[in-house]
Amino acid sequence: MKVLLAAPRGFCAGVNMAIQSLDLALRHLGAPIYVYHEIVHNRCVVEDFQEKGAIFVDSLEDVPVGATLLFSAHGISPEVRQGAEQRQLFAIDATCPLVTKVHLEAIRFAREGYTILLIGHEGHDEVIGTMGEAPEAILLIESPRDVDEIQLDDDAKLAYLTQTTLSVDDANRIIERIKERFPQVVGPPREDICYATQNRQEAVRNLAAEADVVLVLGSQNSSNSQRLKELAREHGKQAYLIDDAQDLQNDWFKADDRVLVTAGASAPESVVNECVVYLQQHFDAELEERTIRDEEVHFVLPRELRDIVKS
Ligand code: SF4
Repeated sequence: MKVLLAAPRGFCAGVNMAIQSLDLALRHLGAPIYVYHEIVHNRCVVEDFQEKGAIFVDSLEDVPVGATLLFSAHGISPEVRQGAEQRQLFAIDATCPLVTKVHLEAIRFAREGYTILLIGHEGHDEVIGTMGEAPEAILLIESPRDVDEIQLDDDAKLAYLTQTTLSVDDANRIIERIKERFPQVVGPPREDICYATQNRQEAVRNLAAEADVVLVLGSQNSSNSQRLKELAREHGKQAYLIDDAQDLQNDWFKADDRVLVTAGASAPESVVNECVVYLQQHFDAELEERTIRDEEVHFVLPRELRDIVKS
């Protein structure tokens, strides 16, 4: 067996920043630290922080008045921000700057009178947060068929935005359909699907042809991880999305398979290592790292934490 280890893989700059923020908050402010939604969509990361005293909530009512609340990497709507103020919470905003960029674009387009077609997945935390910036101006679009069903004049003033973690290919298909129906539509100045999502998809696109099986480390509720699994399957490969080595099943593999291993942007490197070790121990796998692009992106800590860490 040969393991092809894709790079870039795993934690992106936004996830690194969010995780570091929660870690520092726990160390400097002490447990419990409340977190609005999962800090990142990864079971292993969430369970690890629960053991250290983080409490994940889906409603502000579950946070005691005056407590510390951290907003996760996926961002929040203005309503949640205001609710936290009313509850006199000490809020730390660990929203990824690339998600904030999409929020700011939504605010600007709405202010300029556009109807915004937001391409994304219903119910995803990021989509809920972005739609909350201008609920009266945003329509959610999940497929080309949704474009056909839009009930607006053909010359409507329209803009499109996208969730940051979509499949590049699926998003392009929807954007093409929007442009066919509404040629006047305008898009964001720079595309919204983030560098980390694009790079991890590019690695699978480039390397899948060499593999018999593709393993994607990530949780089922991680959008960008799901897209990696789908992309591998679109290339005709047997592909599995797994949280860690405990999910591996020996009958997925033949002794001489080439196994491409990658990880979504919220999956820690430790679970990648566990999987590689498992394949080495059970199939005597050789390891080869394949880097298709270097990543040098870092985001600064939230302002509220910078002050605390300095003092
Ligand atoms: Fe930010 Fe992209 Fe990472 Fe999401 S996947 S946290 S948008 S860098």
